[in-house]
This record gives sequence, structure tokens and C-alpha cells, in this order.
Amino acid sequence: MKVRFMGVWVLVFAAVFAASLLIVTFSAPSAEAQTTTTGVLTGEKVVLDAGHGGSDPGASNAAYNLKEKDQNLDVAYKLKALLEASGATVYMTRTGDQTLSNNDRYVFANTTGANILISIHMNGSTNPDADYTNTLYGKWQKDKELALSVFDGLRTLPAATGTSPIATRTPYQYASGVLLKSNMPATIAETVFITNRDEGRLLS
Ligand SMILES: [Zn+2]
Repeated sequence: MKVRFMGVWVLVFAAVFAASLLIVTFSAPSAEAQTTTTGVLTGEKVVLDAGHGGSDPGASNAAYNLKEKDQNLDVAYKLKALLEASGATVYMTRTGDQTLSNNDRYVFANTTGANILISIHMNGSTNPDADYTNTLYGKWQKDKELALSVFDGLRTLPAATGTSPIATRTPYQYASGVLLKSNMPATIAETVFITNRDEGRLLS
């Protein structure tokens, strides 16, 4: 379905755009990079953390039989393909329906030497009308700029209905082990509400 497809890709493109902006901003240009570049992210390493998994489904949308763990992984794979197409090396904390602790996630991330970590989530609410996008940061200095950069990409998403931009909630600090104990700048992207009736339809 065209509309659904566009919705997911707008989400992915927004995230890639934000990640690209940040990496380009923070990378010192080098002669080597310029002669060997096959994409704007060549030489950059990104950890993608699909939230939840295995025995932890995360939020869900019963009307469309959606589980957050599956949707997060789907977005992570689409984002991985786009990042790799731009030359980045991507590391995934999980590649299937594995159960991972926060400890598993940041310990893995810290072995990669990656520049940034993006943890992909979808929000949930008992109110099927609730929907907004935001990002979270843990380490005050290291993470905040990344969280704001990804948020700037996500906030350009269209709302699930109509053409106005999606509602936003200002990024805030959140004491997640994944954020606090990863060595690199890290953010949790609470992309959209999986429980929202229109987002559920678009995702499905
Ligand atoms: Zn989640």
C-alpha cells in the first residue's frame, strides 16, 4: 500500500538525514576520506538497537496485530540499508527476535567502536488518539546533541492524518542503561505511537 510504504520510508529517511547531518557536522574532513569516499558516511560506524525483542514485545496495537519489537526491527533493517548505501558500517544489537537486556545492548555497542548509537522504539498509550514523536538522552553532554539532531529529523514527519507535521514532545533526559552506559553518543528515538489508530494502519 503506497501510503503505508511512504510513511515508513519518511520515518527512515528522517532518521538517516538526522544521523547524516550529525556525523557530517562532527567529522573532521580528511584527505583520505575524500579520496576513498563512496558515500557521505564512509568510515562512520553506527549501532542500531531495535528496542525490545523475544519475551519482551514492547507496546502493541491489537487492532492491527502489531508488536513494537517487530516494528522496531523492521525500521532498524530499513535504516541499516540506507546507512550502508551511504557508506556507513552498521552494527545491530539484535538481528532477529532475541531477548536482550540493557546490559547486553550497551556491552555489545561498546565493543564496536561506533560513533553513535540509535535505539529505535515506538511509543504506546491507552489512548488510541495519542501520537507524537520525541527522542531521549541519558548522558547530559554526550547524548543531548545527538538526541536533538535526530529529533530535528523526526519532527519533519507528516502527521498520520493530514499533511501537517507530527506533534512533538521536547527531548528529555531518561535514565536508561543503554544510554548511560554506552561509550558513544546515544539516543532513544520514540518515533511514533504504535498504539495510535492511524499509525497502526500505516505501519501494518
Ligand atoms: Zn519501546
